[in-house]
Amino acid sequence: MKLTPLEAWIVDKTGIKEKSREALENYQLNKIRKVIDYGKKYSKFYKEYLKNIEEDDIKSFKYFEKIPFTLPEHIKQNSNNFLCVPQRDVARIVTLRTSGTSGEEKRIYFTEKDLDLTVEFFKYGMQCIVNKNDRVLVLLPGNSHGSIGDLLKKALKDIDITCYVQGVLVNPKDTAEFIKEKGIDCIVGIPLQVLYFSRVESETFKASIKKILLSADYVPETLIREITHKFNCKVFTHYGMTEMGYGGGVECEALSGYHMRENDLYFEVINPRTGKVAKDGEYGEIVFTTLTREGMPLIRYKTGDIGCFKAGLCACGTFLKTMERVHGRMENKIVIGKNKFLSMRDLDEIILSFEEVINYNVYIEKKNILYIDIAVKDEEDFYKLKGRIKNSIEKIPSVREALIDGTLEIVLKYMKKSIEVKNSMVKRKIYDYRWRG
Ligand SMILES: [Zn+2]
Repeated sequence: MKLTPLEAWIVDKTGIKEKSREALENYQLNKIRKVIDYGKKYSKFYKEYLKNIEEDDIKSFKYFEKIPFTLPEHIKQNSNNFLCVPQRDVARIVTLRTSGTSGEEKRIYFTEKDLDLTVEFFKYGMQCIVNKNDRVLVLLPGNSHGSIGDLLKKALKDIDITCYVQGVLVNPKDTAEFIKEKGIDCIVGIPLQVLYFSRVESETFKASIKKILLSADYVPETLIREITHKFNCKVFTHYGMTEMGYGGGVECEALSGYHMRENDLYFEVINPRTGKVAKDGEYGEIVFTTLTREGMPLIRYKTGDIGCFKAGLCACGTFLKTMERVHGRMENKIVIGKNKFLSMRDLDEIILSFEEVINYNVYIEKKNILYIDIAVKDEEDFYKLKGRIKNSIEKIPSVREALIDGTLEIVLKYMKKSIEVKNSMVKRKIYDYRWRG
């Protein structure tokens, strides 16, 4: 098994003398002090928010844990206050709209140097997956300067790997033709779009695709299993978000969790109940600090994603940490009765395991009625599967109890629209409409 190429890159970039956690953590702590100093000097937000923190006091990670978290709400309130460079030095602004109340948006700023660092991460990250003989098709947005597709293309060009950026999947037939014509054997795309494509264009997928990299949203395990076995395909997953500078971590050949971009980002997993750092092996909320960001550094930023660091070492043999595949968003877990919860992850594992399904939406309305709109290949499939899907959902223990208690009702509906293309970069979620008028 190939050692993750991220290791040599991180050792080189950090200048650590030995491959040890201790040396890397010393580098990270040193960078943390610098980013706090930098943030307090140049960003309005951190000048005020961290005014009582002296960077030189941060002698250990124990002390660092006392620094307050940065929340998405802080960015929503005033994104500009986070900016550390003059506007003219901003090379890319990404506006992230959250569904729900209007006006809630976050703007994330990058300088050219910030974008270059992401290209570099992609360069080494992609070497976990492809080599010179591979031809890559990117099904992610790539038209504008500094978009994820644009950065990936630059990264692959630097390492002499053929890459086409098509943007999000719109027409599976055209994409299938393109794959055959260009001899593509690797796809980078959004989990549900790739699943959809593999289900409607199975022949092409089977004949051509050997490796895929899934990004932009958490990845249901059932999807990985299906694509791996049905097409004899290696499925790698990537974890990242715009706030991280897109790239955060990527799986090595062991395919059992990501190695992180530890030279540019410091990750913590926080117990949501205590706010304290969780032990390796324990799940919690992923929090990160940028170590090298110029335009808009973030310190202890709460991602809202559920994750966990593995306690042991990776089979690839690296000294780098391994993070388990993320479990999705914390908010994607809704209350369906007293001490009873339902998560999107539970629904994904069931609904997506039916091969006729190509997409679904889920929302809960007043009186706890859970609506699941399901898109299938042929309309008649829906009526054939409806009962089986509903039965399987009702077997989720919390759902079964809520049904017995009468605190939940489930309604399955046929969804005509085959796949949401327009907003496919938005992370999927359970929409909770119970409190609206
Ligand atoms: Zn590994």
